[in-house]
Amino acid sequence: MSNTISKLQRTLKMIYGKQNAKQGFDYLFGYMIKNYYRPRKSDQVDHIFIKSISYLFAIANLYDIDLEDAFLRKYPCVCPYCFSSPCVCILTKKRPSISLSFADEEQELRDKYTIVINDKANVSMTFEKVFSIIMKIYPNNACDWKHHGVAFHMIKTGEELAELHEACCRREKYGSTKDTATMLCVSDEMADVFAWMISEWGLWRNAAGMTEAFSQHYSSGCSRCHKKIDCKCQPREEHDTLLCSEYTKHTVESLLSILQGDEVLKNTFGIGFINGFMKDIREASSERQIDSITDKLIKSIGERLRRVEIDQRIRTEVFDTIALLEDAISKTHRYS
Ligand SMILES: [Zn+2]
Ligand SMILES: [Zn+2]
Repeated sequence: MSNTISKLQRTLKMIYGKQNAKQGFDYLFGYMIKNYYRPRKSDQVDHIFIKSISYLFAIANLYDIDLEDAFLRKYPCVCPYCFSSPCVCILTKKRPSISLSFADEEQELRDKYTIVINDKANVSMTFEKVFSIIMKIYPNNACDWKHHGVAFHMIKTGEELAELHEACCRREKYGSTKDTATMLCVSDEMADVFAWMISEWGLWRNAAGMTEAFSQHYSSGCSRCHKKIDCKCQPREEHDTLLCSEYTKHTVESLLSILQGDEVLKNTFGIGFINGFMKDIREASSERQIDSITDKLIKSIGERLRRVEIDQRIRTEVFDTIALLEDAISKTHRYS
């Protein structure tokens, strides 16, 4: 029997769950986008979708969302807006095709969901199965594919990615796992991104072979270190370096330059001390190293700095820079 989507998500959690939990959603989101928007050379299409969907699984794991379930809740074999299959939103202006009160609308979708999950035909929810559900509800996707090529799907996925990003940011800002409203929103948006990605991948592949390709890619665990539990690869540095560490690094360097440039400060701390930190920070390559050097520097100059007699302008400059650094390292740790 083929792997189900839930099972594949759990497999990825075994391999990458611990690593990803340390990274936070913006890191994972960045890589999802980076992979999804690669040029579609025909021999790389599988790789694009395997990677993009893996990152979607990773974000889902971060928030304890089961993507298969999220998809079926949002798309219980009918369109979530017109409640029909095929979708007739174009005629109903995205309103239900049957007349329902607002409260009944939600119940209607919940009932449809219950029917779908109790249907034996849906026991093995593979990527192909999801694709066939989407195509039954939205046969127009295939027409758009035929007439407009890949652009239509990429634009739609882009819109959904933006909405998912908004939902995740709201979740990071306000939500805890107890906050059902924000969580539902994330899981809804996640279902949309997933639906568009599977729609596109299925069209590339003529509705076959996606689950097999995905399972194959992870059949011997992590594709780089081959661990089946807790991948031991170093997290990639590009994104967090761009987002946080590079800024912290420059700010540390400018703080050290201020110390170097002031005679009193240079004598107080010693040129060896200043140059030592300068060398360490320039050579630091990981976010963790940069943070720990910054932290050590702030602690070792903090108290002594208060006691030295220096020019008021320099003092302000030094303390302002330290405040920036304290802020930078506390932001870096906001997801850990
Ligand atoms: Zn519809
Ligand atoms: Zn690995």
